[in-house]
Amino acid sequence: MAKGNINVSVENIFPLIKKFLYSDHEIFLRELISNATDATLKLKHLTSIGEATVAYGNPQIEVKIDKEGKKLHIIDQGLGMTATEVEKYINQVAFSGAEEFLDKYKDSAKDSGIIGHFGLGFYSAFMVAEKVEIITKSYKDEPAAHWICDGSPEFTLETADKTERGTEIILHIAEDSTEFLEEARIRELLLKYNKFMPIPIKFGTKEINDPDFTPKTTTDKDGKETTEPHKQITVDNIINNPNPAWTKTPADLEDADYSNFYRELYPMQFEEPLFHIHLNVDYPFNLTGILYFPKMTNDLNIQKDKIQLYQNQVFVTDNVEGIVPEFLTMLRGVIDSPDIPLNVSRSYLQADGAVKKISSYITRKVADKLKSLFNNNREDFEKKWDDIKIVIEYGMLSEEKFFDKADAFALYPTVDGKYYTYEELFNAIKAKQTDKDGKLVILYASNKEEQHSYIEAAKAKNYEVLLLDSPIVSHLMQKLESTKENITFSRVDADHIDNLIKTEDTKISKLSDEQKEALEGLLKDVIPAEKFMVQLEAMDSEATPFMITQPEFMRRMKE
Ligand code: ADP
Ligand code: MG
Repeated sequence: MAKGNINVSVENIFPLIKKFLYSDHEIFLRELISNATDATLKLKHLTSIGEATVAYGNPQIEVKIDKEGKKLHIIDQGLGMTATEVEKYINQVAFSGAEEFLDKYKDSAKDSGIIGHFGLGFYSAFMVAEKVEIITKSYKDEPAAHWICDGSPEFTLETADKTERGTEIILHIAEDSTEFLEEARIRELLLKYNKFMPIPIKFGTKEINDPDFTPKTTTDKDGKETTEPHKQITVDNIINNPNPAWTKTPADLEDADYSNFYRELYPMQFEEPLFHIHLNVDYPFNLTGILYFPKMTNDLNIQKDKIQLYQNQVFVTDNVEGIVPEFLTMLRGVIDSPDIPLNVSRSYLQADGAVKKISSYITRKVADKLKSLFNNNREDFEKKWDDIKIVIEYGMLSEEKFFDKADAFALYPTVDGKYYTYEELFNAIKAKQTDKDGKLVILYASNKEEQHSYIEAAKAKNYEVLLLDSPIVSHLMQKLESTKENITFSRVDADHIDNLIKTEDTKISKLSDEQKEALEGLLKDVIPAEKFMVQLEAMDSEATPFMITQPEFMRRMKE
C-alpha cells in the first residue's frame, strides 16, 4: 500500500475548492460523468487506431445511489487507470489528462469529443463528499488500483481486485449535501446536464411492455372478449439521448426530427416552432446547433425556455448573453461549441475574438435562412411575419450587418394586407408620395381602428398606407430615415399630411388663405364631392387656380 501527499503547493486545497472553484455544487456530477465519458471515448479512440486491442463493446455509464451507505457511485467501462496513472492524473491537481491525451493524439483525436481540459473537474467531488474512493482497472494488463482520500492532502493507494475494465468513483456524501442521495435530485441533475451526452447513462431500471410479447385475446362461450395483460420486462433506465439531432447532418434529418427534438429540449412546449436553423461550422471555430424561431408571445419577459449552451454535448448554461447576439436570445434551441471560453467573465467574453466570430456567424446564418424562406415561399413567409417581425426588427436595429441583409426580406405590410419589401414599397410610391423637397413620404398607421378615417382619406387619394404596429417600429423608422436616402415616415393622422405630399406639381401658393377659403366654399357648392376631386392650385399657371379631377376609384364607383 502506498501513502503519499497530493501534489499541490497550497497547504490544503480542498476547502478552497469547496468554496471557490465552482459556485454551484451540483456540477460535481456533470464533472464526474464528463470524466467517465472521456474515459470511454478515449478507449473508443485507442481501439479504433489499434493502440488498444480490447473489445470496445457497448459501454455505459452507471449512476447508483446507496442511500443507507450514504454513497453515490459513478461507474464507467472506459479505459481505466493503472496505479501509476492514478498517481499521475489524480494526485496532480490541475494537471489535465484530457489535455495531455488530446496533445498526444493531436491529429487523430481532435474530433473525438473529449470534454475535460482544466484538470480540476475531478476535485469538484469534494464539494459534496467527505471521502472519495476510486477503484479502477486499466484496459492494460495491470492490477486494479484503489485510491482513497478524505479531503485532506493525504491519500492512500493500494491494489484492488476489480476485474472488469473501467472506473468506479465512490462519493461518501457529506452531511451538508445529503440532497445528492435523493433519487429525484440526481435525476434532475442528470436531465439538466447530461441529457444529450454521447455515452448512454443508466440510472436505475424501469418496467416496459415486452416488445416480443403480443397479448392474446380470447373469446369465451358468451362471446365476451378478454385480452391478457401485457408482459412487463425490466430494462435499464437510460437517462440520455446519446445522438441528439444537432450532432447529425441536416441531410439526415426530416422536418419531423427537428420538431421531435424541439419537444425533447422543451417537454413543456406544446406550440410548434415556426422554423429551424441548423448551425454547422468547423472552421475557424467549431460550432454546431439548432435554433428555432418560436411563436412570439406578447409578453417577452416570460421566457424561460431559452437557448441552451453545450460543450461537447455537456450542458453548460442557458445564459447565452454575450455569445448569441442579443436579438436572437429570443429564439430557442441549442448551441454546442468547445471553443467558447466559459471560465471568464461575460464582459471579457464579449471582447473575445473567437466569441465575436461565433456571434456574427450565427447572425449571418439566421439572416441567410430568413432570406431563403422568403425566396422559396413568400406566401408562407408573409403568414409568419407577425410572429417573427419583432426579432427581425430588433435585429435590424441592433446589428448593422443584419440590417443590411434584412433589406432583402424585411416586410412592410399595408393596411390592406399587402406585404412590400422596402424596394417594392419604394417603387410603388415614388411617383406619387413625395413632399415639396422631393422627399419620399411613407405613410403608416399604428392602429387600424383608431385611425380608420384617416386611413380611408389617404387611400382615397391613392396613397399607400403601411400598418406598422410593433413596439419597436418607431425606432426602426428612425433608423430607416437615417439610412435610406431622402425618406420620411409620417403617421396617417398627422396634421400636416396634406402639405407634406404634393399630388402633382404643387407650386407656391399665389392665393391668400382667405382667397383659398372663399374659393373652396364656392366650389364645394357646385361640385359633388363624391364624384370629383378638387385640388386648389394644382397647376402651374395663374390661369388655372384649381383643378377638378376624377380619380380612378371614383370612376369605378360610378360604374
Ligand atoms: P480533466 O478532465 O480536465 O482532464 P479532471 O480533474 O476532471 O481533469 O480529471 C483528471 C484526470 O484524471 C483526467 O484527465 C483523467 O486522466 C483522469 N480520470 C478522471 N476520471 C477518470 C475516469 N473515470 N476514468 C479514467 N481516468 C479518469
Ligand atoms: Mg474532467
